Amino acid sequence: MKLIYEKSVKGRIGYSLRKDEFEGSIEDFIPEYALSKTKKELPEVSEVDVVRHFTRLSKLNYGVDDGFYPLGSCTMKYNPKVNEYLATLDNFTQAHPFAHIEFVQGNLRLMFELEEALKEITGMDRFTLMPSAGAHGELVGVLIMRKYFEDQGKPRSKMLIPDSAHGTNPASSAMAGFKVVEVKSNAVGNVDLDDLKAKMDEDTAGIMLTNPNTVGLFERQIQEIAEVVHSKGGLLYYDGANLNALLGIVRPGDAGFDVVHLNLHKTFSTPHGSGGPGAGAVGVKKNLVEFLPSPLVCNCGKYFGLEEPRKSIGRVKAFFGNFTVLVKAYAWILSMGPQGLKEVSETSIINANYVLAKLKKYYRPAYDRFCMHECVLTGRDYKEYGVKTLDIAKRLIDYGFHPPTIYFPHFEPYAQETIMVEPTESEGKETIDEFINVMIKISEEAKTNPQLLKEAPHITYVSRPDEVKANREPVLVYKEK
Ligand SMILES: *Cc1c(COP(=O)(O)O)cnc(C)c1O
Repeated sequence: MKLIYEKSVKGRIGYSLRKDEFEGSIEDFIPEYALSKTKKELPEVSEVDVVRHFTRLSKLNYGVDDGFYPLGSCTMKYNPKVNEYLATLDNFTQAHPFAHIEFVQGNLRLMFELEEALKEITGMDRFTLMPSAGAHGELVGVLIMRKYFEDQGKPRSKMLIPDSAHGTNPASSAMAGFKVVEVKSNAVGNVDLDDLKAKMDEDTAGIMLTNPNTVGLFERQIQEIAEVVHSKGGLLYYDGANLNALLGIVRPGDAGFDVVHLNLHKTFSTPHGSGGPGAGAVGVKKNLVEFLPSPLVCNCGKYFGLEEPRKSIGRVKAFFGNFTVLVKAYAWILSMGPQGLKEVSETSIINANYVLAKLKKYYRPAYDRFCMHECVLTGRDYKEYGVKTLDIAKRLIDYGFHPPTIYFPHFEPYAQETIMVEPTESEGKETIDEFINVMIKISEEAKTNPQLLKEAPHITYVSRPDEVKANREPVLVYKEK
């Protein structure tokens, strides 16, 4: 397939003003300062060339609207289109962020009520809706933790992070100035309590934890962990990026967590990926409310208004965050209702366990126990045929499925061959069965025809790009050969 630059024909144009409606020169219409002094290297193509080029490119893409997308730890689920529509309503998109609060009472009410719903779902006391991503929410959360200790005149320098944690956790802690200390996992995939006890001290701000953890397993000793950390005056941070397993079943606030972030762009009806707008709402317990970013939305009697927490860590984003993501989360929560939210989690968990039960014979999981909303299988048994997990994932593309997350989590005892499947609640049994059957078929192919897998995918325009090179040395400017 040609690049649009390769389709360029000298002198070809899409549209130009007709002589009879346009007299004079371009300088009469556009001020001097706005005119470029250099000739831009743009492709010279017609309108139909442009339309066909981009339409063709869009067909090479694969998204949740095309088919199954079981990318573990990402919650690539179907999001109702009606919520996208609601987020486009003029009253939301046209509201000026500097408008006086009297004129945007509805928007403030939406934020207030969304906060109330998130408090109810998580068991926290107050939320900021300002952060624009999960990682951004983490940074806000750990900055709040840092300020809490500084405010007591006893700053702490370390943060505990389990080895199974999402990579953003250590990154956020380091950005907030903490020294990251790793806590090991035990034989059943949970936090090793002895290691935790040995490492938790009074110079440690606390622990960043995910439950279910990043291998999709429920952390059974959460009470003990909370006791160890709290007994040294530390705080528990909950990475709630994947709340799909807990809605309406367990509340992090009740389990002893002090700070929580949620990815509204995973669980709460905003598609995520490609760096699109997100929202990493952060919730805290009472003793941390005064450190939240400013401003917060309040219900000040007659009106909804804004208030400044007394010892706020400050502003973390322009205006009110990615407001349309909040609109979608609000609409989704209301349309699901409490019972619907619970069913989301129950269905996510059942779907993942169904995949695990059907595939564990073919792709041995590291831990043989029930999972939550995602399961971690491995491709380790096919190494002896010269087949890597990467080859299995690539072969799935030939069968019309987006591959699951692979090589993550990447710590022992997974021997680097992990396959993390998150079916989400939005898939029906037929689709999941189809996926299971294909996975079983591929396990046969791995033994009988490994070459087929190593050369997969066979049906895509590009088969095996050098992903590392594309990442490290991206070619972003077209150069004529
Ligand atoms: C996705 C994810 C994050 C990061 O969220 P972003 O919005 O991509 O910054 C953090 N933790 C976990 C467990 C996640 O799955």
